[in-house]
Amino acid sequence: MKAPTALRPAATIIAGALLLATLPLFLNDYWVHIATLAGTYWVLVSGLDLVVGYAGMLAVGYGGMLAVGAYTASVLAAKAGLDPLLALACCTVTGVIAGIIVGIPGLRLTSFYFAMATLGFAIIVTQVALAWGSLTGGGIGLAAPAYADPFASTGGFYCLVLIIDALATWLVWNIASGNPGRALIAVRDADVAAEAVGVPIARLKLSVFALSGALGSVAGGLFATAQSYITPDAFTLDLSVLFFIAVLIGGRGRIVGPMIGTGLLTLLPEIAAPLVAWSAFVYACLLLVVVLLAPGGIAELLERLRRAPPPIDRMAGPEPEAMSAALVSAPRAAGQLALAEVSRAFGGVRALDGISLTLAPGTVHGLIGPNGSGKTTALNILSGFYAVHSGRIRLGEADITRTSVQARAALGIARTFQTPRILGEASVIENVMLGAWRHAAASFGEVALGLPRFYRDERALRAQAMAALATVGLAAWANARADRLQHSEQRFLEIARALAMRPGFVLLDEPAAGLSAAEIENLGAIIAEMRRLGLGVLLVEHHADFVFRISDQVTVLATGRVLAAGTPAEIRAHREVVHAYLGA
Ligand code: ADP
Ligand code: MG
Repeated sequence: MKAPTALRPAATIIAGALLLATLPLFLNDYWVHIATLAGTYWVLVSGLDLVVGYAGMLAVGYGGMLAVGAYTASVLAAKAGLDPLLALACCTVTGVIAGIIVGIPGLRLTSFYFAMATLGFAIIVTQVALAWGSLTGGGIGLAAPAYADPFASTGGFYCLVLIIDALATWLVWNIASGNPGRALIAVRDADVAAEAVGVPIARLKLSVFALSGALGSVAGGLFATAQSYITPDAFTLDLSVLFFIAVLIGGRGRIVGPMIGTGLLTLLPEIAAPLVAWSAFVYACLLLVVVLLAPGGIAELLERLRRAPPPIDRMAGPEPEAMSAALVSAPRAAGQLALAEVSRAFGGVRALDGISLTLAPGTVHGLIGPNGSGKTTALNILSGFYAVHSGRIRLGEADITRTSVQARAALGIARTFQTPRILGEASVIENVMLGAWRHAAASFGEVALGLPRFYRDERALRAQAMAALATVGLAAWANARADRLQHSEQRFLEIARALAMRPGFVLLDEPAAGLSAAEIENLGAIIAEMRRLGLGVLLVEHHADFVFRISDQVTVLATGRVLAAGTPAEIRAHREVVHAYLGA
């Protein structure tokens, strides 16, 4: 059963590679040249796919990368007399630098402004090439490097491009399928979830920009040779737009789709020769059609064909006994997590006004109060999303008042969100594996190169995520797209993701909201198991009954102050609480 499904993609890849490698045998030189161009573009688009398709950043000016590489290779070969292959290798260096230059504004700018910044980059590169005539030949141009045998002929050069295509696809595939790929999708679709599990977003983005810059620049080196002579006008805005659209019509967050998209867009003007002058127009129309009719692009159309039906029992019962496997090892007791006299205001609203509460390992602490009383704010302060205006936060002996969200995740503080933040287009298990982000050992480079540690991580994280899914009763859904889950199931998915962090503390924001009575029972069993295994649970809830039933301690908030605190029995008997909140 297992072997054929595992073999099918491998067989497809081998068949595809054989077909591509033998193209020169049955195509004339002109079409081999077009295929070479498509292959060259794919080297760039594969990297751009990580930036646009995975991270969701609107990098429209990647024609600039192509220019950087084309000039690097040509200048080094023509002026410094470097061997063309060596000059091509040097493109990775200029590409990494250019990628980081483009990436730095991407750390702060939002979509539209970032798109403008990348276009600016593309324009600056060609303007510099035009102005720096002594090096680049200015408007007259520069001869591109010509490779020695076996890459000298049209067919030979095509094979070189194909080899680099394979290499680029391999690097990008590894990144996309591993920890960085899941984190990039999280940055795109639910950046607060990425932060909450401890993803160092800025470093990850810069690594991806460096890789995509290197690939774009190597593509440029190949592009120069494919054109045999380069001038600044070779790097038109049309070309930048083509790369960007290839990713979008291919389907974001996928690899095969953008690969097909690149091939189609390169071929299109060739097949319909009169269209050349209209290429920008045609690309724009194609983009519109895709956005309107198939927003997921080619990849989603392919995927729809082989979508599995949903599992029959929508939600099997949870298996709390699987939780210890999800946590891998018993949570280390780091001491108590405590808020001391914490205040926080938003403009004139005092969301929290000097509250104190203590969350001990192995206990459930219920936090109740009417809407707007500051429950979510307290949770955001504990997890580091909001800074405090006064007061202290402690974890054991350590003061963590100024510690970042990511660092608190590393300290074992996990959370869920009042509105679930899931990666809808990723699979259920990938959502959970994202939670285990910090427990992967392989670096970005090791993942890209597919070194053994990467595979070991993937196996371990997958097993751990399966245990977390079994714990909450979603194991049957592991490979379904997460956006096919119902709202209540998404709440359980977030709990599984929090467990995958192997936390010491779990902060749950209204986990019972929108759940059926049976699902609330299941939730209760899961929380009880968390306590048994030594986790400290903060249960923010609206349903007082549920909280009283499973909490060891309860704190009642009203307009940002602690109205009462104590055991459930004490709270139930508390006159003010009964009057003001329980309404009895
Ligand atoms: P609860 O979770 O108990 O319903 P919240 O903690 O979400 O309450 O909100 C407490 C108060 O703080 C509310 O008046 C809310 O409007 C305000 N508040 C919370 N977060 C923000 C924010 N990011 N910006 C402005 N006001 C906020
Ligand atoms: Mg709230």
